[in-house]
Amino acid sequence: MTELSKSHFVFKPIVRGMAIEESEELFPVGKVYCVGKNYADHAKEMGGEVDKDQPFFFSKPPQAITQLANIPFPTQTDNLHHEVELVVFLKSECSNISASQASQHIFGYAVGVDLTKRDLQVLAKEAGRPWDLSKGFDNSAPISKIQKKEGLLFDQGKILLKVNGQIKQSSNLLNMAWRVDELISWLSKFITLKPGDIIFTGTPAGVSKLNPDDKIEAEIENIGSLSFKLVR
Ligand code: MN
Repeated sequence: MTELSKSHFVFKPIVRGMAIEESEELFPVGKVYCVGKNYADHAKEMGGEVDKDQPFFFSKPPQAITQLANIPFPTQTDNLHHEVELVVFLKSECSNISASQASQHIFGYAVGVDLTKRDLQVLAKEAGRPWDLSKGFDNSAPISKIQKKEGLLFDQGKILLKVNGQIKQSSNLLNMAWRVDELISWLSKFITLKPGDIIFTGTPAGVSKLNPDDKIEAEIENIGSLSFKLVR
């Protein structure tokens, strides 16, 4: 189906734009994918292991992405967890590409946190149900400003997250089981990736419970830093 002119929409389409470092332009948010269990130490703390044969993905709605400095503490959870992750932003369409073709589609990167209602996720896992309500709620994917790094592959660099000044997660992108180019290639075999699409690349060990008023600071070497507060 072709897209009709704007005047034909029953209400204004919502396209969300994210800030890019040293730019006045905004990155239009498309589909958001997240890989699970991409660091062996985190897979282990979750009671599983990295699947060496295939990565697995879930998605968050575009509305989950936020650059708010003050994020309202989410409802319906008694066990909200942080997961610091390298986030990749795509600038062009690709389908069924090899890993060696992946980097040309990269627009840039950011530091992100995959906020997770761990209590709801555990219940969903036990019941064999989808993770959407535990992973895809409002503001569940805070990101830093996007660093434009077109065509560049990042597969090493320190990654860490602090809560109220205390280090909770500390690792290196080298420890990812599936590299960025491999993740893009894998996804592209199932889904046509488009400009605006975003991939969260998994978290290392050290996830822990967050509380209202907590201050979260995260950084990735050569990519940038992210800081936000959970407010009541
Ligand atoms: Mn995650």
